[in-house]
Amino acid sequence: MSSNDRLAKVSNISDETEFYTPLPAGYRKGQTKYVIVLGTVMSGLGKGIFASSLAKLLKDGGLTVAPIKLEGYLNLDSGTLNPYRHGEVFVLDDGMETDMDLGTYERMLDQNLSRANFTTSGQIFSRVLEKERQGSYLGRDVQMIPHVTGEVKSKLRELAVTSGADVVFVEIGGTVGDVENAYYIEAVRQLAYEEGAGSVCFVALTFILEPPSLGEQKSKAAQLGIKRLMEGGIQPQIIACRAQNPVTRKVREKLSLYSNIPFEHVFSMHDVESVYLIPDLIHSAGLDRLVTEMLQLHERIDTRRQHQAHTAWMSYVERLKNVTQTVRIGITGKYSSLRDSYASIIQALEHAGTNHDVRVQIEWVDTSEITSANVATALAGLQGIIVPGGFGTRGFEGKIVCIQYAREQRLPYLGLCYGFQAAVVEFARNVCGLEGADSTEIDTETPHPVIDILPEQKQIEGLGGNMRLGGRDVIIKPGTLAAQLFNNAPETHMRFRHRYEVDPRYIERIEAGGMIFSGHAPDHPIMQILELPAALHPYFIGTQSHPEFLSRPLRPEPFFFGLVRAAKEYQLHVTSEQVAG
Ligand code: GLN
Repeated sequence: MSSNDRLAKVSNISDETEFYTPLPAGYRKGQTKYVIVLGTVMSGLGKGIFASSLAKLLKDGGLTVAPIKLEGYLNLDSGTLNPYRHGEVFVLDDGMETDMDLGTYERMLDQNLSRANFTTSGQIFSRVLEKERQGSYLGRDVQMIPHVTGEVKSKLRELAVTSGADVVFVEIGGTVGDVENAYYIEAVRQLAYEEGAGSVCFVALTFILEPPSLGEQKSKAAQLGIKRLMEGGIQPQIIACRAQNPVTRKVREKLSLYSNIPFEHVFSMHDVESVYLIPDLIHSAGLDRLVTEMLQLHERIDTRRQHQAHTAWMSYVERLKNVTQTVRIGITGKYSSLRDSYASIIQALEHAGTNHDVRVQIEWVDTSEITSANVATALAGLQGIIVPGGFGTRGFEGKIVCIQYAREQRLPYLGLCYGFQAAVVEFARNVCGLEGADSTEIDTETPHPVIDILPEQKQIEGLGGNMRLGGRDVIIKPGTLAAQLFNNAPETHMRFRHRYEVDPRYIERIEAGGMIFSGHAPDHPIMQILELPAALHPYFIGTQSHPEFLSRPLRPEPFFFGLVRAAKEYQLHVTSEQVAG
């Protein structure tokens, strides 16, 4: 249905009333329940991890869940945000560029999400302004309440309709008290009122301070945060306390007393070894059960099914905890805020490692200082290297040097997007004799633009939204390493986010040099996987896509799985050579 049709179908719009509650077509009140997770005291508490773990438990019990993240910023999507400030840009299958939390949801829930699962203030306001121009507000002055808040409620209810989920999980970004999130909080307050008792459960995630100088936990900041929420007309039913150590009874009692919440509804969500242990922490504490009881969904929980899912999940966690061997993989990347900027790659390596019973130790390699004179030292002790996605010229030549080293020394290599392109440049220059070959992103004057801007992107101006984005099919060449990694599937589906690609005019010359393009787009000559044949290298592979977005704990992604396997073999090989030597 087009947005105009949807507009035409909304009910409850009239200039006679102060109410403004556009209900999407097909919406049935009471059919969908809502869990709303808000953060107090500070951001960075792991709201997404908490909300997705809770949602997972309900899903494991047989309920259908649909998460949505509400972002306060005015950008239309996360595509233009600097990953070093805001964390990685996570790309969904439908091409939406979102906050990294959507990656957490996809991994925890093992469920693909779409643009319906993400919104920003920019999207909400642009929809309001679009409606205003269409005259949809019938002469009313357009106000934060009820129109903008109405749009937020409408977005949540649309998700309820399109997903058909039993429970919509709403995560409000930022912290209670932020100006930019205030209208989201007001909107969910209204939603709870309109949906009625038993339909909406508010969970406040808070933080318990434990200053080392005092050596005890203090609840005041948490109390003030909850109070702030209550000033906004929201009475949370559950408080989940993030803390370094298990939260003491005394602190939980205080929070209970100050917040009108039974003591049993205040939970300790202290730090655990792995984020994948959080579902267990929630479940053991009985928090998920409390939520389903409050929402009158408890009878529908299939405990046998939940138990089975739990066993499978815990087998992953057990393997993760019991790894004995370590492999060291280098990732070329800038030093600041690395964990968040490369969140999905780190996760994908963990999934692959755990499924091989090894711990992957990541070493960050700053390539801006790397030259052929010092590369061997810089990469010493590594069993594999990844050149991840990136933009711009910084450190590019250093990456080329690292790739050349990996290729010549038979060190396992995985190139992701930019790292795929860099591998083509390196090979063109050093093997195919195309002197000065480059990507036009780096050098517009290069005599051999082996990587160039996509023909279809050339027409698009401006920065936001001009990339080839989202899920695309990839045809895999039989008999190649790629085919082996994907169990001989003739094709697969991957996620993309790029502006440049291999210039088709160079494909033949590069392949003549020995590189194989083992994956390409179905209807365009867009090269999507490259590799070196087994005779030349044990594991040298790259993809124009971002496979890191597809990895799930119980289903490690093949490129990463292959890299860790190759790293293990490399380690074995190098150690036995050392012994022999
Ligand atoms: N800068 C390259 C391009 O735009 C690679 C992008 C990426 O790594 N995501 O094509």
